[in-house]
Amino acid sequence: MPRPRAVLIAGASVAGPTLAHWLERFGMEPTVVERAPELRVGGQNVDVRGAGRIVAARTGVEEAVRAAGTGERGLAFVDARGAVQAEFPAASRADAGRAGDGPTAELEILRGDLAQILHDHTRDRVRYRFGDRITRLDDDGHRVRVGFERGHEEEFDLVIAADGLHSGTRAITLPQRRDVRFLGLCLAYFTIPREESDDDWWRWYAAGGGRTVTLRPDRHGTTRAMLSFLSLSPAAARLSPDAQRELLRAEFRGAGWEAERVLDGMDRAADFYFEAISQVRPPCYANGRVGLVGDAAWCASPISGMGTTLALLGAYVLAGSWHAATTTVRRSPLTNRSCGRTCGRPSGSRPAHRASPTPAATPACACSTPRRGGRPGWRDGCLPSAPGRSTCPSTSCHARPPADQAGGRAHGHDQLPAPSIRKPFLAMPLSC
Ligand SMILES: Cc1cc2nc3c(=O)[nH]c(=O)nc-3n(C[C@H](O)[C@H](O)[C@H](O)COP(=O)(O)OP(=O)(O)OC[C@H]3O[C@@H](n4cnc5c(N)ncnc54)[C@H](O)[C@@H]3O)c2cc1C
Repeated sequence: MPRPRAVLIAGASVAGPTLAHWLERFGMEPTVVERAPELRVGGQNVDVRGAGRIVAARTGVEEAVRAAGTGERGLAFVDARGAVQAEFPAASRADAGRAGDGPTAELEILRGDLAQILHDHTRDRVRYRFGDRITRLDDDGHRVRVGFERGHEEEFDLVIAADGLHSGTRAITLPQRRDVRFLGLCLAYFTIPREESDDDWWRWYAAGGGRTVTLRPDRHGTTRAMLSFLSLSPAAARLSPDAQRELLRAEFRGAGWEAERVLDGMDRAADFYFEAISQVRPPCYANGRVGLVGDAAWCASPISGMGTTLALLGAYVLAGSWHAATTTVRRSPLTNRSCGRTCGRPSGSRPAHRASPTPAATPACACSTPRRGGRPGWRDGCLPSAPGRSTCPSTSCHARPPADQAGGRAHGHDQLPAPSIRKPFLAMPLSC
């Protein structure tokens, strides 16, 4: 399979910039088109858990995500008077990777802060185009001719929809599919002024009748409010924001606890956001040269607490799978996956090519001997580490990526393994 070079990604939230980061690292040229006129920084707490945490680390943003964390100490269920009935403390850093990732994840961040971190991390290497969207896709089997709302046309090798639950790009490439499944819950998020009584716990009040009111801390000196109620229909999501506010006032009038304060704050909130909670289950993840990732492909819904982790992980696996599929260098068990040279590690040390979840724990490159029978190759296991770095930082390795494998770019070198698709991922047909 020839290596795709020009890749168009729709959506600049979590999946889109993460995918762009990895494609650029693998020598491709991603462009991200975002419908909004500027980066959308709204939204509330999202969780980065388990494998998502590892992808964040490998992407180079874990510390920034940790530093921007909401500081939430855990989840507390309260009664109508505010008395705590049950508590679930946040998972500590020491618990990371263990089963104890509770309702408050170890990496808990506002969606907008995460999108901003990923954008800042990639903006110098990736072309972002705001205030535009895809309106037409003509895939001739070799390239995709894309029509944009602003009127121009451009060709790309691949197009990826990372444009969320109601992906317009998915609707173009998989038309007339009933992909979105409503889960019977409507939910509104917005920001209200913080009061002295607000603490650093996620306080959750079950108001009866399938209604909840929750308040969560943030690092911006405000409080994040959420109202949810059971509903037989997603139709409320199509109402105007004013009509949605009216509906919520009727639902939550006299509900108890802080409901009145939240309703007052809702009227003044600039970031009011209403959603009919749904999942996305398309029949496949790709149609020809157009694919899906993140919520556009497999939205698990905000109540899963997994949407952001799945977006990070999916982008990482997709980029790595392309890289592996388009890099045709023979693998031998003794070959260092990072740079293609035979591993001449010092005796007694751990193999340099073994996967390590934390970059800090990764040993320095130990390769020294050229691969038998040929020039050193740049292999499918290589995850280049720094833009512009031309050789392996190890003094014993001077490999450069061959131009045909790395798009002619100078690549860096580190010891982390490339992601690969394992069998469970293939339960869903990848292509229609
Ligand atoms: C404004 C907003 C607020 C959110 N708030 C929360 C929250 O509070 N809690 C929670 O759990 N999850 C929230 N989410 C969802 C959460 O971000 C995702 O579940 C998860 O992070 C997966 O991200 P994603 O990148 O796949 O999709 P999303 O985060 O949904 O991002 C999709 C991006 O694509 C853009 N877009 C949409 N249509 C097009 C188009 N046709 N062309 C180009 N771009 C397009 C959108 O503007 C958005 O930037 C929110 C999403 C958004 C967009």
